[in-house]
Amino acid sequence: LPMTLGHENAGQVVETGDEVDVVSEGDPVICHPVQTCGTCRPCRLGETMYCENQSFNGLTTDGGFADYLLTSERSVIPLPDGVDPAEIAPHADAGITAYHAVKKAVDELNPGDHAVVIGVGGLGHIGVQCLDAMSAAEITAIDLKDSALELADDLGVDNTVNPENDDVRAFIESVTDGTGAAQVLDFVGADVTTEYAPDITAAGGDHHIIGYGGHVHEPTQSLVNGEFSYVGNIVGRFAELQE
Ligand code: ZN
Repeated sequence: LPMTLGHENAGQVVETGDEVDVVSEGDPVICHPVQTCGTCRPCRLGETMYCENQSFNGLTTDGGFADYLLTSERSVIPLPDGVDPAEIAPHADAGITAYHAVKKAVDELNPGDHAVVIGVGGLGHIGVQCLDAMSAAEITAIDLKDSALELADDLGVDNTVNPENDDVRAFIESVTDGTGAAQVLDFVGADVTTEYAPDITAAGGDHHIIGYGGHVHEPTQSLVNGEFSYVGNIVGRFAELQE
């Protein structure tokens, strides 16, 4: 500090360096929040978030709560005609993070499997839409707010459950015929939600941690018995923001 915050950025290019080819003045772009070096091994593998020489807008270098943002050619994605940068700026973190987790989950979701989304907020409501678009799984949304569950319902989930009204464990057991959910996307990451995992995750399934703030405190034997995994998720790859 002092540092300008702001990691979800989109806008118009106002000036470019002499060697920039990808964009020119006036182009609308969205900015991946991480500026990468391009030459370290994680960069060569496409693992944007693992870059060994990265800077993160608003976290380790000045961000976008300002008139101008300095970023790199490697970090900008030109936008198609008609896309307003202001409307899609949150995809630079909220959108890409939800998409990144769902993309991993979808690899493990077969038709007939069940997916659970915990928390239909700023990221979760995007996660629900990605799951619906990218898998044939049956989807259950969990949230404490009825308004969030109504949104999830409008966005195409198959079941909704409010923990204040229903027993989540019994609900998931019922809608999955006792097998549990193959993939759980936890956009809350509180103690109370990580504790669902042994009871609602199917054998061999994954409980994805996307939200954070709580802890994972489960007996190691519960992971052995059910062979489920806790899976971490951090933002996403440059290519995932393009997608
Ligand atoms: Zn790198």
